[in-house]
Amino acid sequence: MMTCDELISYLSDYIDQNLDEELTAAAQEHLATCQNCRVVLDTTRQTITLFREQGQRTIPIQRRQRLFDSLQAAFLRGEATDDRD
Ligand SMILES: [Zn+2]
Repeated sequence: MMTCDELISYLSDYIDQNLDEELTAAAQEHLATCQNCRVVLDTTRQTITLFREQGQRTIPIQRRQRLFDSLQAAFLRGEATDDRD
């Protein structure tokens, strides 16, 4: 089973559908059971959508990295209370 840490590290590629079948399945399996990661996924998707509505086809990579860093920091700070590993 994929951990929250792994899911978040793959999140960008998951949203971009750049993962291979095996990782995509593992990510979907994790998301099906983990509310925290679903929230992170939704937030990230919304942010990407906002950028696209502003006319940018992609989020600049540095901006994107900061987004994931802050999401991960917020995530690791508190929400993951029912960690199963
Ligand atoms: Zn998770």
